[in-house]
Amino acid sequence: MTTLVTSYESRPAAADLNPFETAKQQFDRIADRLGLETAARDLLRAPMREFRFLIPVRMDDGTCRVFRGVRVQHNDARGPFKGGVRFSPRGSVDEVRALAMWMTWKCAVADLPLGGAKGSIECDPRTLSLREQEQVCRGWVRQMAGNLGPDIDVPAPDVMSSAQHMAWMLDEFETMHRSRQPGFITGKPLALGGSAGRGEATGYGAVTASVQGFGNVAQHAIRAFVALGGSVTAVSCWDHNEGVAYTYTKRGGIDVDQLARITDKYGSIDMVHAIDLGYEMLPGDAWLDQAVDILIPAALEGQITAQNVARINPRVRVILEGANGPTTPAADAQLAHRDVLVVPDVLANAGGVTCSYFEQVQSNTGQFWPREEVLATLDAWLTRAFRHVAQTAAREQIPLREAAYAVAVGRVAEACRLRGWV
Ligand code: NAD
Repeated sequence: MTTLVTSYESRPAAADLNPFETAKQQFDRIADRLGLETAARDLLRAPMREFRFLIPVRMDDGTCRVFRGVRVQHNDARGPFKGGVRFSPRGSVDEVRALAMWMTWKCAVADLPLGGAKGSIECDPRTLSLREQEQVCRGWVRQMAGNLGPDIDVPAPDVMSSAQHMAWMLDEFETMHRSRQPGFITGKPLALGGSAGRGEATGYGAVTASVQGFGNVAQHAIRAFVALGGSVTAVSCWDHNEGVAYTYTKRGGIDVDQLARITDKYGSIDMVHAIDLGYEMLPGDAWLDQAVDILIPAALEGQITAQNVARINPRVRVILEGANGPTTPAADAQLAHRDVLVVPDVLANAGGVTCSYFEQVQSNTGQFWPREEVLATLDAWLTRAFRHVAQTAAREQIPLREAAYAVAVGRVAEACRLRGWV
């Protein structure tokens, strides 16, 4: 029997790009603004718990391969941990730590009774068969099962993970616990207790004209924007065959449904078909310097940096962060200087987790809300969150990101104090 360990190592990114450094810098700024006591800083600046484990899987060719799994639970003072599980070829634990912390703030900004967590499986699912993916998902749950559950920690999909992956995870958890617990996970298929509206909710609150990414968040954001009368002229995505990103543009605007038909489930557009359909192909980072009004980074963290922020076209007035952590603090400062309105991730993409919360409520109480009810409740919930942050920003004369963080960190710190933790 051959044992193969995945070749993906934890690779710390450069300081400006390390997402956990970004998350800590953002937190420190707000902790100073709020005058947080030392104990609260110590508690909130790092995850409460981290799990790192190995998942051995029998591959289709009979060999065994060992995958690395991670779950970072940042803070659960306001409610059970909540956060997605992503497939992460790069396998950076700092990335997961940052994403877990951002989840805590996002849930608090949206005023959900949830904490923040994030998980990853270090591999590229495109290189695995469906059976192998299923085994990896089940293995991840087996390793974590004692520390997950509707009242403990509730996973969800994230980058490269889908409703099918959630279904396998749910089945493994329920088999282990010999009971049906649909509230264990969100983003699951409708037929297994998923919520209507959960798919499109990931992109709600985010609209744009030039988009980085063409996955779950990006496609729904583009549809919402176009429905409002907007036009998206450029989208970029990762090309798995070539191992680089490309930007696709079309004068007059892209046709999201047409492009979606030639896009795989990981958000990679088929280059040959796109060219046949009249799309112009540009380098992967060309989405950034398009002459548009709004940019939406909706792919990965650390994409707008001190090194490339000057390339953003002077016409751009708004940046809507569909992805988590796409802008580094150094780039943020320059954007503020240029008077570009940055709608931060914790606000702009909070639709996904808010709808996940609705799914938890339905699953835990045996209800099924019609799609219209889900989307109307979501609209009201996000509008309330946005207004509260916008009012804070106006009152304190600070950017939206700082206002969102001030609201979030203040709420989480208060919950910690009430529990007697600090
Ligand atoms: P996804 O896997 O569905 O799509 C990711 C997209 O990014 C794909 O189109 C991929 O080709 C593209 N991409 C990857 N690397 C790229 C690069 N270097 N240049 C250009 N494009 C690249 O993932 P998703 O669910 O849409 O998540 C995207 C972001 O939104 C992540 O930051 C995620 O954490 C965040 N987010 C996701 C949800 C959710 O519910 N899925 C909710 C809120 C926020």
